[in-house]
Amino acid sequence: MTRVFNFSAGPAALPEPVLRQAAEEMLDWHGSGMSVMEMSHRGKEFIAIHAETESLLRELLAVPTNYKVLFLQGGAIGENAIVPMNLLRGRSSADYVNTGEWSKKSIKEAKKYCSVNIAASGEAANFTNVPKQQDWKLDPGAAYVHICSNETIGGVEYHWTPETGDVPLVADMSSNIMSRPVEVSRYGLIYAGAQKNVGPAGVTIVIVREDLIGQALPVTPSAFDYKQQADNDSMFNTPPTYAIYIAGLVFKWIKAQGGLAAIERHNRDKAALLYDYLDSTQFYTNPVAREDRSLMNVPFKLRDDKLDDAFLKGAKENGMVQLKGHRSVGGMRASIYNAMPVAGVQALVAYMKAFEASHG
Ligand SMILES: *Cc1c(COP(=O)(O)O)cnc(C)c1O
Repeated sequence: MTRVFNFSAGPAALPEPVLRQAAEEMLDWHGSGMSVMEMSHRGKEFIAIHAETESLLRELLAVPTNYKVLFLQGGAIGENAIVPMNLLRGRSSADYVNTGEWSKKSIKEAKKYCSVNIAASGEAANFTNVPKQQDWKLDPGAAYVHICSNETIGGVEYHWTPETGDVPLVADMSSNIMSRPVEVSRYGLIYAGAQKNVGPAGVTIVIVREDLIGQALPVTPSAFDYKQQADNDSMFNTPPTYAIYIAGLVFKWIKAQGGLAAIERHNRDKAALLYDYLDSTQFYTNPVAREDRSLMNVPFKLRDDKLDDAFLKGAKENGMVQLKGHRSVGGMRASIYNAMPVAGVQALVAYMKAFEASHG
């Protein structure tokens, strides 16, 4: 068996010990005589798995007790609609900060439910930075302020937490949740699809302050009403049981690495290896402002895009896959989530140097 270094933006690589444990437990989970996939979500075995997964998430992120943690379906794109349905609370508009492709999708969807005020936009700079807070035009009457904490396609990340006063801050953290500690109390709501840094596709994490729920628009589907889900421990409908189980294994793995502070140090070291090399050469370029560079997704271009195919082919021959950039921006992208070992980034940098030496 050969495992590759998988730089996919999502669904993405999972820690190998997690996959091994899942394989060992596949046919018989802890003497139950069945796979987690085959369990009733209301049985005591799965209820224990669900409770442990939630408690590990609460512990790792230090989630305050006045926040609900929900494991839902629908993905982050689903949340683009579900958030306004739940959080407008009688208000008619919301503030959005536009930092790139994922922000734009959120904005477009929200416009179906409310009027959207673009409080700030990185568009003029071609989405190569996070607009500085002093330039934001926040509306004190907004229902909430929405940001995308890490633009997975553009490789732009917030390394600070916006200040929004009494207006709740909402963040799409799909591609950087669990990559570092987060001060949850600064947010009204955090949501994330699992398939970047948490587990398989299928489960969506929502962390929401209790006082914000219970006023969903009447048209909100019950399965997407945070209050109904919170009152039913995320089991108003059948939750994505297997994805929740794998997320729990990933959380245990994160804890064994020393928790989120240790994971962050590891992620900073990995990203520095790649950015330091990119900064040392003219052969490759990354367009993002230094202070806003993503630790998770590193887009880069070859000086001569006619070499792209040869670069990707050689990478594959060297056991490195999924380096092609998103179709909307072209070039390359290395996604280096928690599960990417430092050896993978070292191998990539070594390959990039060798490729430069032979093609530069
Ligand atoms: C991947 C991603 C999404 C889309 O998630 P789905 O699971 O496809 O709904 C949304 N936002 C961000 C920031 C992402 O990285």
